[in-house]
Parts: sequence; C-alpha cells; structure tokens
Amino acid sequence: MNGFTDRQQLLAEMRNGESLDWDIIVVGGGITGAGVLREARRRGYRALLLEQQDFSWGTSSRSSKMVHGGLRYLAAGDLKLTKESVLERERLLKEAPGLVDRIAFYFTFRKGLFPGRFAMTVILAIYDFLAGIKDHRYCNNEQLLKQFPGLDKANLKGASYYTDAMVDDSRLVMRVLQDSIDDGAQALNYTKVTNLLFENDKVCGVAIEDVDNASTIELRASAVINATGAWADRLRNEVNSEKRIRPLRGSHIIIPKSLYPVSNVMTFLHQDDKRGVYVYPWEGTTVLGTTDLDHAEDLDIEASISNQETDYLLSAFNLQFPNNQLTRADVISTWAGVRPVIGAEQGKNPSKERRDHAVWSDNGLITVSGGKLTTFRLIALDALNAAADSLAKPAPISDDSMFITPAISADDLLPDNPQWAQRLLGRYGKKAQILLAESNTHEHVSLGETEFCLAECLWAIKHEAVEHLDDLLLRRTRLGMCLPRGGDVLYPALKAIFSAERHWDDGRWETEVTRYEAIWNSYYSLPNNP
Ligand SMILES: Cc1cc2nc3c(=O)[nH]c(=O)nc-3n(C[C@H](O)[C@H](O)[C@H](O)COP(=O)(O)OP(=O)(O)OC[C@H]3O[C@@H](n4cnc5c(N)ncnc54)[C@H](O)[C@@H]3O)c2cc1C
Repeated sequence: MNGFTDRQQLLAEMRNGESLDWDIIVVGGGITGAGVLREARRRGYRALLLEQQDFSWGTSSRSSKMVHGGLRYLAAGDLKLTKESVLERERLLKEAPGLVDRIAFYFTFRKGLFPGRFAMTVILAIYDFLAGIKDHRYCNNEQLLKQFPGLDKANLKGASYYTDAMVDDSRLVMRVLQDSIDDGAQALNYTKVTNLLFENDKVCGVAIEDVDNASTIELRASAVINATGAWADRLRNEVNSEKRIRPLRGSHIIIPKSLYPVSNVMTFLHQDDKRGVYVYPWEGTTVLGTTDLDHAEDLDIEASISNQETDYLLSAFNLQFPNNQLTRADVISTWAGVRPVIGAEQGKNPSKERRDHAVWSDNGLITVSGGKLTTFRLIALDALNAAADSLAKPAPISDDSMFITPAISADDLLPDNPQWAQRLLGRYGKKAQILLAESNTHEHVSLGETEFCLAECLWAIKHEAVEHLDDLLLRRTRLGMCLPRGGDVLYPALKAIFSAERHWDDGRWETEVTRYEAIWNSYYSLPNNP
C-alpha cells in the first residue's frame, strides 16, 4: 500500500468492533487538523483524523496560498503573530522546498496613499529582521514597470520589493497527511462526526456517520480535538453554547496568463476601501484577490464569489492597468473561502479583526480554530498542549523537521529537470520517486499552462483517497480551476484512468461528471446573474 488509509477497510474494521479506540481523534481535515494529526503521531499517539467531505475541502483549499508573515498584522502592531509567521515561513521554505517557494512581492505607492515609501521601508526592515533575512529594497517606476507593464503611471511613486512565499494549500494538507499516515496515523475523508460521546459529563469519543451502511459508529479517544475551522462552534456548542467564530469570506478570480502574465506578486490598495489587493501568478494563470466580508450563508453550502466581489476585483485591476481591461468573459474560474476568524464582533471592519488562533478546552473537548495556514504547526502544538492532561506522556520526537525528508535529491531524481523534480519532492515527499516509477514518460508532460501532469492524476486516483472526480480536479490537482471550462479537455484521459484503476463504468463516470460540473458551475465560476 503506497498511499492513504484504505477507507473501506478501516470502516469495515470499525463495523466489526475493531479500531474503535484511539489516543487522539482529530475532527476536521483541513491544515489545522492535518497539523494536529502529524504532531500527534510524531509524539507516538494512536491518532485518527475524520473529515466530513474531502481532505482540504474547507478553507484550506481556498486560501490566497501565501505563506507569509502578513505585513498588515505588523502594520497593526501585532509583532508576535508576525514574528511567529515569518519564522514558520522560513522553516517551511527549508523543510518543504518545491511545495513552499519564495516569491517577490511589489507593494506599489501612489501619491497621497498610506503607507508611503518611508513607512514601508521601516515596516519591511522590521519584517525582515523578525525573519532573520534581509531581502527588501525600493524600486523606482522604471524598475516596477518592467515587472508590471501597463501599470497606470498617474501618481505612481515606485514600489517596495520584499519576499514572502507561495504554496499549493491543498497539496500542503496532503503532504502533511501523507507523512502522518506513513508514520502510522489514519485519516478518513467523507466521514462526518455527528455528535460527541460523553462519560461522566466528559467527552470520551465521537459518533461518525457510516454513509455506506446508513448507520453510526461510536469511536472512543483519550482526547478529541475539534479542528473544524469555520464550523468549530457547531461541535463545541455541544459542550459550550458560546459563539466565537465570525465567518469572513474572501474570493479570488483566475484569468488566463496570456491576458496579463506576471511572475511576481503585485500589491496595491483598492480604490474603494484601501484594502490590499494582490495580482499574482499561480499554476500558469494570473490570480486577483482577495475580498473580505461577512459570510452569512449556510456553511454547509460551499462558499462562492458574489457579483459585488467580482466587480470589486475586476474594477481594481482595470484601474491599475487601463490598457488591459478585463471583463467577466475573461475569467477562467473563481474560488471563495471562509476565514474562521475569532472575534464575533459584528459591525467591526472585517479587515481589522485579528487573525490569530484560539484554543478552548470544555469538558474534555479541545477546540482549535482561527489562525493561518502559515502557522499551522504552532497551532497544532497549542492544541496538543491543551490536550496533554488527557494523554499519556508523549514519546520523544526523533526529527526536528515535521516533514519526512525524501532520501533522494532533486538532482538525482531527475537530472534533466531538477526544478520539476523539486516540485514533485515538495508535494509528494518520498513518494515522488514511486510516482515517477509508476508512470510513463508521456504522462510527465505538463497539462496546458500548468505544471500538473497525468502522472499526478494517475497517482492521486490510485493512492490519494480520491472518492470523486471533483477531489481530483479541484484539490489533488488544481486542473479544474486552471484549465478552461473546468478542464473538460481531460475527460477522455481521466475516464480511462478511473476505469482501469478504480473500475468506474460508464454510468459511474457520467454521474461523476454531472456532480463535478454542478459543483464547478455553482462555486468555481462567476455568479449566473450578473
Ligand atoms: C480567502 C482566504 C485567504 C486566505 N489566505 C491565506 C494565506 O494566504 N495564507 C495563510 O497563511 N492563511 C490564509 N488564510 C487562512 C487559512 O486558509 C485558514 O486559516 C486555514 O485554511 C484554516 O484551516 P482549518 O483546518 O482550521 O479549517 P478548514 O480548512 O476549513 O478545515 C476544517 C474542516 O473541518 C471539516 N468539518 C467540519 N465539521 C465537521 C464534522 N462534523 N465532521 C468532520 N469534519 C468536519 C470541514 O469539512 C473542513 O474541511 C486564508 C483564508 C481565506 C478564507
């Protein structure tokens, strides 16, 4: 077995009364839950993660994909969060190159707008100092326009160059889960926790929905950790009626690279509310993001971009680049995520809410929510510390790196293409070598403008707990978001792989395509009625 937990087998064992007792059960398969699972297993605990939908289906596949300190937090005086974040960024860059990669940011200045050059130079000096690097400078208009041709020159006063990092958020979740499973943890997707179990008023386990058998299974654990992000209040409300999560939506738009190619990130202040907006490269496309507003919709329905957000992002781009006017017809796809912000202060400007995490302990249930992708390791450690009283003493940790370091270097893996090899090693860790060995060279060709290839699809279908076509196209790879029309050009090739590897017949394939296209049309494209 090369890959993930065998879902059917583990559920069958549970139905037979086996595998019902765990040291730690983690509810939620986003980056927070994955981080907790990894750090729990590294300490020797028998750990199980349960995700109601697909792994990273929640916010962790819909972030802006930046591993960053967040200049905004520094400007707001939050030194602690910024320092933790930039140090974690540096750690991730070192431990997972090819998955987390440094990228240049250009923060543009316009006359009359704050922060200007002087303030930004001070902010960046502190930012770099906290990270232990020195990588910022001022760029004049000429240097800036070389990076971003067509940028409106009116009142333009150059930019500050600095660096942060980018990641594929879903693949980060998958890498952390994969390493956890390789170390002996288990993770089940499409397994919903319906309620908590109690013994003497203390949480002692969870009940899960066994969809295949239309029944429930009761699992016991010394510690239950609720890592359900924006959904955290729901499970916690079984033990504490307090409401602490303020769901805030952020949306993004993807346009073809050909319309405005960028290789670095441009940041500017939106004309309406002076919030920072980014234009950045991602998987052979150009992305515009993000927005920040209260999300009042049902959390069980996937978040999607609104007309108002679409106009907000397109108008911002069009004002900056008057000769590259974008219309709705140019949009390839969109995504929207819900930030689990701790605050619950309705009325406060969403962008002014703090972005750090919180951990609560109620009757044996540990709830962890908020924070950022970037700091997931620290968030996981806080959650485990809060659970310490319910657990046996942890085993000593043998390796400082949270990732299992692949035994082979990028140069040795693919001497002709070490850059791509590094990407595979970052995303698949030690599995990268097997992924290449299990595929043919014609499956290594990049698809469209992306760097994804059919070998990765084959690997995911065989080994990465893909239950539906949307798991493959929206999360294991991002082909459904980066190729035109949701990547329908790949249907014949994918149908053949699903048929050979998973025995999907024509009926199953049609059902999956219908399901995928309904999801894509509702949540990954523009709203139907402009
Ligand atoms: C628009 C946007 C941009 C962002 N950009 C960045 C960025 O650039 N950099 C950064 O560091 N951070 C960023 N963030 C923040 C970051 O994405 C989140 O903090 C992080 O993804 C939260 O992860 P999580 O695991 O806590 O939640 P989620 O990823 O939402 O995971 C929670 C999971 O719990 C599952 N679940 C819920 N209830 C149950 C149940 N009963 N049983 C089983 N499973 C359940 C859900 O299905 C979900 O998958 C951004 C967030 C947003 C919204």
